[in-house]
Amino acid sequence: MSKVTTRARATPDPITAALQELHDSLASDAGGDLATYIPQLARVDPGLFGLALATMHGRVYKAGDADVPFTLQSVSKPFVYALALADLGLEEVLSRVGAEPSGEAFNAISLEPGSGRPSNPMVNAGAILTTSLVRAPDPVARFERIREVLSAFAGRRLELDEAVFASELETGDRNRALAYLMRNAGSLRCGVDEVLDVYFRQCALLATSVDVAVMAATLANGGVNPCTKVTVVSQPIAEHVLAVMASCGMYDAAGEWLLRVGLPAKSGVSGGLVAASPGQFGIGLFSPLLDARGNSVRAVAASRLLAERFQLHLMHHPGRSVPVIARAGSALTLQSGRRRLRTEREVLHAHGDDIDLRSLQGDIEFAAAEVILQSLSTVSPARPGGARWLVLDVQGVSRLHPVAARMLDSAVLELGSRGVVVAVGDPHRRGLLPHAAVELPSPEEALEWCEDALLESHGASLALEQREPWQPGQGGE
Ligand code: GLU
Repeated sequence: MSKVTTRARATPDPITAALQELHDSLASDAGGDLATYIPQLARVDPGLFGLALATMHGRVYKAGDADVPFTLQSVSKPFVYALALADLGLEEVLSRVGAEPSGEAFNAISLEPGSGRPSNPMVNAGAILTTSLVRAPDPVARFERIREVLSAFAGRRLELDEAVFASELETGDRNRALAYLMRNAGSLRCGVDEVLDVYFRQCALLATSVDVAVMAATLANGGVNPCTKVTVVSQPIAEHVLAVMASCGMYDAAGEWLLRVGLPAKSGVSGGLVAASPGQFGIGLFSPLLDARGNSVRAVAASRLLAERFQLHLMHHPGRSVPVIARAGSALTLQSGRRRLRTEREVLHAHGDDIDLRSLQGDIEFAAAEVILQSLSTVSPARPGGARWLVLDVQGVSRLHPVAARMLDSAVLELGSRGVVVAVGDPHRRGLLPHAAVELPSPEEALEWCEDALLESHGASLALEQREPWQPGQGGE
């Protein structure tokens, strides 16, 4: 009897499967050309194609040649820009390098007439100038700082491809010309050879698609590398870099890229492409055949399909998953469940609408906070049937963004000035609303606290000594 053996085939998770599918469907597209103006880049295998995606939790998914290193070339530019921003601050950097899409090729002579200020840090002129801004006592130290920071973005030490560096050093006359023009205009304030040596080295740093995905994920994660947990740059810097990538990252295709793919991205002439979905993930792609604009044919196609499939466009509005106000009512319908004396129950029954309650939930940002503000605007003892106490149940609030926290806290302050006492119920004891009269460890206790205050105001005996601790399911007397 023959024994039938079935070999278990590991089914990839859906993300790996999606990357694999993209790889398989695009790998046969041999359109485009290798970059040849740096001779060493023309020696690369044109069939290489790697895809990787890194999440905010530090998980990495990959397909194809995602572990094959390539030289970063222009993919280095956003990360060196981040370093210059960290060294000098946005205003100083902006005064030296603009942030306007040039709409021109990567090596265009795109300098502001008069000042010689390059249009943005993603084209060569702007990138060369940005490199010169990195603080260091000498070019050797400047490159080491750049290597260190790019390595921190990637979460491992990046090595230099000496052959590609030497190749560009030998043939990079157009970049030399750009640097001389900037030096002549006064915008470049250091020696041409000195800055180009560092710039060509940063371009020749080797990284894999996985590395690049982690670098992008670090930007998407507000500057914190999600794999190593190291804070590489501050959140505002990460945001500024992503903004410039969104508007200027794809050379003369930047506008169409933003329209079709809608993600901050940067491509390089070695065929690398870095893209980030803020708060979600980073992607790193590599395939060396380039289109006429110098962008990798397969990487661009893969990004388009990914963005469509996963609805990644920056302008896509996902909508709220849950209403921000889960429950609204008064103590007439919602009671704390505490045992009460008959006289107390009568007072609560007659005046229950003196206590309002709002249960808030979800991730509260500006728009959600505005909805809450609107709902609170009618709470006032001056209105007939208006409440004097307000319970804010924030138990279900997963996150209160700083802007929303300020909006809500000033609403609480304003309620106070209208004579409304606010009690917050929060088992997490987060102190989200500092101007509330009290914060208690549960919405029930906050409601009970307001009930007690209402009873006290009506002179009803609280008869504390007669009460037993409240038990779930216990009714009143
Ligand atoms: N090292 C290349 C150059 O400066 C980078 C260009 C690119 O990747 O777009 O020409």
